[in-house]
Amino acid sequence: MFADLSDAPLDPILGMAQVFAGDPSPQKIDLGIGVYKDENGNVIVLDTVKQAEEYLRNTQTTKSYLSSAGNPQYNDAVRGLIFAPGSDAHGRARTIQTPGGTGALRVGADFIAKLRPGARVFMPDPTWPNHPALFRAAGVETVVYPYYDVAAGRIRFDAMMDALGEQLTANDVLLLHGCCHNPSGADPDQAQWAAIAELLERTGAMPFVDLAYLGFGHGLEPDRAGINILAARVPEMIVASSCSKNFALYRERTGALTLVAGGERQVEAAKGHLLPVVRANYSMPPDHGAAVVAHILGTPALRAEWEVELNGMRERIRRVRLELVNQLAGKGGRDFSYLADQTGMFALLGISPAQVQSLRSDWHIYATDSGRANLAGLTMANVAHAAEAFASVTR
Ligand code: PMP
Repeated sequence: MFADLSDAPLDPILGMAQVFAGDPSPQKIDLGIGVYKDENGNVIVLDTVKQAEEYLRNTQTTKSYLSSAGNPQYNDAVRGLIFAPGSDAHGRARTIQTPGGTGALRVGADFIAKLRPGARVFMPDPTWPNHPALFRAAGVETVVYPYYDVAAGRIRFDAMMDALGEQLTANDVLLLHGCCHNPSGADPDQAQWAAIAELLERTGAMPFVDLAYLGFGHGLEPDRAGINILAARVPEMIVASSCSKNFALYRERTGALTLVAGGERQVEAAKGHLLPVVRANYSMPPDHGAAVVAHILGTPALRAEWEVELNGMRERIRRVRLELVNQLAGKGGRDFSYLADQTGMFALLGISPAQVQSLRSDWHIYATDSGRANLAGLTMANVAHAAEAFASVTR
């Protein structure tokens, strides 16, 4: 089976990480892999996570199996984060714990393939490259819709609505990024979310929202506004959420899949059909990250501390975005002012592969081949160098 295989292509982001590690320049900046870094460039463990781990170490009495749905306290707490207080979605939603946001997306994709063979999933152009890969791996057809104008640095909302209005049917699924769109950092505003909800009502298509960056955009409440606008209007929805970024739990694989249905009976039935999909895949999710999150969100003082830590991460990203745009002013080259209005870690620099290469070889700055930059790799100490480089390669 393996004898005649040729070498598999190297993952481009991981390949770049190796080149970065070997670059001896003291000025080098890693804007590649999607992790939040602090002002010292470190991917830290949150203090609230350390406290919850200490609590678990002292109180956990067993490592026995849970169930395919994972930790029930975690599931309730995550549902509480996604839907606004008082939303009727709480009663007609059920959440299961999954191995990361990726696990949630894949279980959701398998579930769509099981319940609706022939459904198409419409995804934005551009999107996170793993989206098409994992839906296709689940045997679900993918269709691309226009989303972002790289040259103009803004959403192509009219083109998106026209394309979706013409093509979406009641058998289809519309994949949306809940906030902090990866890779563009550009999200619909509230009026645009309302127009998307209206389109979904009209076509009968179901939204599948990927919420990987809750709290990284404008805050917990504004970042869930889009999902809540949809939930108030459409009968059914799937949400894949992740605690990888907002709890910095990346390797602990802490995510959740939430189903919303027309009522409590329907959602219980849907959950009943979802669990065998999990059972036949990984059986049940890993416990540790979810136990940590359940303890933090279930302990009012810790939850308040976590919100301070989350706000700190978000505000640092905001500060470096603004500082980058400030430093670029008057330098010539591409107009990067759109970076100040966008949110989350990622931005498309709108530069050619040759310019990406020049950033690496002449300036020791590593963005992905597509020109996506993880702006959380910037600090007050290195942002001036980045501004010099971005202006220089685009002049
Ligand atoms: N969706 C998007 C858009 C992402 O960027 C990511 C992380 N890179 C994920 C989902 C999945 O995150 P994880 O599986 O690490 O929780």
